[in-house]
Amino acid sequence: MKLILLGPPGAGKGTQARRLEERYGIAQISTGDMLRAEVKADTPIGREAKAVMESGALVSDDIIIRMLSARIDQPDCVRGFILDGFPRTVPQAEALDRMLAAKNMALDAVVELEVNDAVLTDRIAGRFTCGTCGAGYHDEFKPTAKAGVCDVCGGTQFVRRADDKRETVAARLEAYHTQTAPLLPYYRAKGRLRSVDGMADIDAVTRQLVETLKDVGSAS
Ligand code: ADP
Ligand code: ADP
Ligand code: ZN
Repeated sequence: MKLILLGPPGAGKGTQARRLEERYGIAQISTGDMLRAEVKADTPIGREAKAVMESGALVSDDIIIRMLSARIDQPDCVRGFILDGFPRTVPQAEALDRMLAAKNMALDAVVELEVNDAVLTDRIAGRFTCGTCGAGYHDEFKPTAKAGVCDVCGGTQFVRRADDKRETVAARLEAYHTQTAPLLPYYRAKGRLRSVDGMADIDAVTRQLVETLKDVGSAS
């Protein structure tokens, strides 16, 4: 199964992509996570991306497309993948179409998580993840069961993203509306777009996703 999850920052893409990865045995590919790993390892890509990411703007299409193209050639993608945070511009979507055509692959679905801007700032400001296993949490909406201990791995180190400050969120939402939202009509015109209500609670969103993917759920 090859999927794209679309939605603004804080919509719940990463949270849901992890669940779909487990359910369907496909690889979650988050270009944001890949970039953060490059920054942490202080690679040439990381050095170029760091300031851009901290400002809330998008990293250049060129870097992202090269990174993604190499990633979908990895062996864990043979059963399929779920793209979280890519594509984010129309040129990235066009490059993806070309890449898949060249590999004789096709997308099964593009799913949009519909969320009002008003909740996104709170979702982003309260976000944190386990530093050991990467499980995602929220101060208010998804706290750990035991304070300070990861539900999944028992880890006690947690991280907050440098760009999750309230001041940066406005710039990220602006980038979403001007550069990423045009992907909705792009995929709608191709008859590929499905929408899910991302305002519901986390489990309810997962149920809606599974329902909307019923017809492609068994495809490889
Ligand atoms: P969120 O989950 O909050 O939407 P991401 O983790 O996907 O955020 O992305 C964090 C930052 O990484 C973005 O603000 C942007 O600077 C950069 N980034 C991630 N994916 C892309 C992409 N496909 N194209 C350009 N920039 C990207
Ligand atoms: P994205 O990858 O789209 O930026 P995340 O999956 O990281 O979004 O979710 C952003 C924050 O909101 C996280 O702290 C997450 O725990 C929380 N969250 C995700 N989905 C929901 C939801 N349906 N309701 C409430 N909070 C949510
Ligand atoms: Zn953990």
